[in-house]
Amino acid sequence: MEVLNFVDGAFQTTAQVLENVAPGSGEKFGTIPRSGAAEVDKAMAAAKRAFPSWSKTPAAERAACLERLADAVQANAAMLAEAEAKDNGKPVSLAAHVDIPRAEKNLRFYASGIQHFASHSHAMEGEAINYTLRKPLGVVACISPWNLPLYLFTWKVAPALAAGNCVVAKPSELTPVTAYLLSTWIKDAGFPDGVFNVLHGLGPEVGEAMVTHPDIAAVSFTGGTVTGARIAGHVAPKFKKMSLELGGKNPAVIFEDADMEEALRTTLRSSFANQGQICLCGSRILVQRSIYDAFRDALVAKASKMVAGDPLDPSTKLGAVVSEAHMNKILSYIELAKEEGGQVLCGGERLRPAGVEGGFYVAPTVIEGLGPKCRTNQEEIFGPVVTLQPFDTEEEALALANDTAYGLAATLWTTDLKRAHRVAAGIESGIVWVNTWLLRDLRTPFGGVKASGLGREGGFDALEFFTEPQNICIKL
Ligand code: NDP
Repeated sequence: MEVLNFVDGAFQTTAQVLENVAPGSGEKFGTIPRSGAAEVDKAMAAAKRAFPSWSKTPAAERAACLERLADAVQANAAMLAEAEAKDNGKPVSLAAHVDIPRAEKNLRFYASGIQHFASHSHAMEGEAINYTLRKPLGVVACISPWNLPLYLFTWKVAPALAAGNCVVAKPSELTPVTAYLLSTWIKDAGFPDGVFNVLHGLGPEVGEAMVTHPDIAAVSFTGGTVTGARIAGHVAPKFKKMSLELGGKNPAVIFEDADMEEALRTTLRSSFANQGQICLCGSRILVQRSIYDAFRDALVAKASKMVAGDPLDPSTKLGAVVSEAHMNKILSYIELAKEEGGQVLCGGERLRPAGVEGGFYVAPTVIEGLGPKCRTNQEEIFGPVVTLQPFDTEEEALALANDTAYGLAATLWTTDLKRAHRVAAGIESGIVWVNTWLLRDLRTPFGGVKASGLGREGGFDALEFFTEPQNICIKL
């Protein structure tokens, strides 16, 4: 497949292209544009031209464009799920049940949301009335990662467009296909030329050109913490808005009074879903000492039974990781864990499933025997690798949970209601799930604290981010 840029309502090629590799097989299957500053200039100019009219288009009309785009996603859901599985390595069943339906939902959610997004007014009794306009920002950059490609791409562009901004968006160069497919429906959905532009290429080239462009009004970025810091270094001194959704090293805290069956089943999922490549996956499992051995043995037994296979096979539950380089990074962290004194209880190696031997597969890996301060327990691995640590008291559990630079998500397992409230409030993270994982209500604020990011997405938070408030005060 030849992926193309979509700029000013038309498809465009670039002088140079990059190869796209299917991680499930290791085979090359297409090319993508290698865009740079010249392509960013064109997209920015088109978006700037389109902004005055788009920003004044009634919200209901902007919403109708998003609804038609959502219809196209819905009508092509099976094709998109297959494309996502091939491009990313995730099981097609996961793409069909999670990624693609959620992409459709993101578009519909903000089509509706913008029509309920009202401004505030503040009366000064007998003296004046204030009201707050929320104005679109202008041209915004949306940059998304490879782990949930269309899901996170739409999570950004939907509120940006709904709020009346023009968008220059870039998916990860590792997983460009579904964003490209989406761009083939933009015109039919009714978006005027220049409103919604999609560029492809390398982060340090086209991504960097986007975030440093003088005309960009705001940056919405999801990706690694190192990249986020680099982007903040460019954007902050210019006082432009930025929303940064970054990495995590999320704890799963399991108390002795937890529902063991449910905690086990869900912890298996929170550890290895999408091959552990979800920013919300729990990678540090903290278990109360009285149940530690039983929990460990049961988790290892379940993880050892997981079978990796071709992402395109509908029965596959465990797919490939996103690239050869990422697989090697994960394997090097497993070696590091051993050097740091960890015992690998299962997994720990590359897999070569029959028929897809050239793909990039890593066995679900559980490690114990490491202290909280070692690199394995401090750095984000972003693969199917978890560590186990025992704790005795609630205080110790909290100290271990918070002993990280990150603060994105945490999972807490207990049937004691008071403890649930107490520990949840004590955890330093943007999200805490109690007796569940990845249960998402799109109205809730989504994001992290500490090195996990800045700002919140979701619900009206995203619409607030993509608009500038202006207070107007009228003397009575
Ligand atoms: P990266 O930070 O490498 O890349 C994210 C995006 O930024 C990609 O589109 C990438 O392009 C682009 N990019 C890279 N360098 C630059 C640059 N200098 N300027 C502008 N853009 C750039 O992250 P990954 O794609 O590896 O994604 C994994 C990371 O994302 C993990 O740390 C994970 O925790 C985090 N994440 C966070 C989530 C959250 O909501 N908090 C959700 C999902 C993931 P390209 O890939 O083409 O180089």
